[in-house]
Amino acid sequence: MMSKTPITVAYGDGIGPEIMQATLDILIAAGAQLDIEEIEIGEKVYLRGISAGIEDSSWESLRRTKVFLKAPITTPQGSGYKSLNVTTRKTLGLYSNVRPCVSYNPYVKSKHPVMDVVIIRENEEDLYAGIEHRQTSEVYQCLKIISRPGCEKIVRYAFEYAVANNRKKLTCFTKDNIMKMTDGLFHQVFDEIGAEYPQIEKEHWIVDIGAAKLADTPELFDMIVMPNLYGDILSDVAAQITGSVGLAGSANIGDHCAMFEAIHGSAPRRAGQNLANPSGLLLGGVMMLNHIGQGDIASKVHNAWLKTMEDGVHTYDIFAEGVSTEKVGTKEFAQAVIARLGQKPTTLKAADYPAESKKITVELKSRPRFHKETIGVDVFLNWDGSNANELGDKVALCSTEKLKLIVISNRGVKVYPDGMPETFCTDHWRCRFENPEGKAIAHADIIELLGKVNKAGFDFIKIENLCLFDGKKGYTLAQGQ
Ligand code: NAD
Repeated sequence: MMSKTPITVAYGDGIGPEIMQATLDILIAAGAQLDIEEIEIGEKVYLRGISAGIEDSSWESLRRTKVFLKAPITTPQGSGYKSLNVTTRKTLGLYSNVRPCVSYNPYVKSKHPVMDVVIIRENEEDLYAGIEHRQTSEVYQCLKIISRPGCEKIVRYAFEYAVANNRKKLTCFTKDNIMKMTDGLFHQVFDEIGAEYPQIEKEHWIVDIGAAKLADTPELFDMIVMPNLYGDILSDVAAQITGSVGLAGSANIGDHCAMFEAIHGSAPRRAGQNLANPSGLLLGGVMMLNHIGQGDIASKVHNAWLKTMEDGVHTYDIFAEGVSTEKVGTKEFAQAVIARLGQKPTTLKAADYPAESKKITVELKSRPRFHKETIGVDVFLNWDGSNANELGDKVALCSTEKLKLIVISNRGVKVYPDGMPETFCTDHWRCRFENPEGKAIAHADIIELLGKVNKAGFDFIKIENLCLFDGKKGYTLAQGQ
């Protein structure tokens, strides 16, 4: 008898408890060897005044078991609460989010009968760093953080996943025509690491046309790797067009821990009515069984589930006249899957997972440090006037010997010198100062400049240093500069 693997389970909110019960009933009936530790997360914990949505003792369980099967939770609206999903992924270092989106033609109605796409979403960075500030009366900011190690980990994971799972093509989506530095880095790392995988076909699409193609011709894609935000949005699109967002599971993988869930949320309007489709969480559970080395049970569960799909036993979200045979609730669906344990699908491709876990580990290569020189500074001002020339002439007087005003931009577009009267301006101004000879400056030079800006009565709200890395600009020009 195989020893039991400790896992942490959270029943979540909304439809969470129903789909978790259905999932666990199926896994246990299939013979999964699980030693379950239950924790409470989400709404109830938030409403007890714990803004993180999770108690310290729950972190202890997660760090002990290192495997988390999680039902969706409700994140209360409003600024006081942080998304627990994001916090969990980042705290436990779950950098890779794997979201297979498969259509089950002709058994589940889909506009795209041939679709089998694995979306690999970067899970820790991008706008999900959650670093947001209101800087002026009018302007709010959210920082998009993209790191080289972050890109290297996710891109290498995606290529390794492709090799391990016999996938042929990996597509990368970014918006590097606009975000040349952040998305540009993601694309560059994709090209660099891709060169080490000649057997995998590679392509890159700008995310807007890539998304349109994914929604229109998903059969052209095999795997797609994306930064966090695009991956979050497009994996929902991809799952929905297979037939229902309720069909897709998701694995969040890190070096130490892993979390398995459905891709959808807690669907509060469907809660407590025995309506929800537990398939997404169940397929997350299948990924978990593979991760913990119970691949034979994973195949058994997946095949019974495929047979249930084939037999037309469907929850409301995928029920279609002429295709489905029986409309069932969450509990009855679980019973139908349990009744088919040991059976295989007739025409859909049966699952046949290796008994042993095939964990993908990613080693970061040692990275060179670049020689950094600061040659200027952007000083952001909150200024209530509207005439850029008036501001520019005043701010220019703050220039020092080492730092001269070069340009002012508003929401990224140049407004001084020689701005256009048509450009709409907010109360948020970026004043760029550079060393006139392009030479390195010291922090003391920036402090001297800020002293003058302060003395002139300006409200500075933040600065960003302008640096060269091995002589290469580490910042973009203002639009129109
Ligand atoms: P949602 O995914 O919960 O639901 C959107 C709609 O999709 C539902 O109204 C329902 O019609 C359908 N749906 C989703 N899952 C289904 C299932 N299993 N069976 C049948 N139909 C299903 O998205 P939402 O309404 O935007 O979010 C609700 C809450 O969930 C929010 O508080 C949000 O923050 C949270 N959320 C949590 C997670 C997570 O825990 N991983 C993920 C996304 C959203």
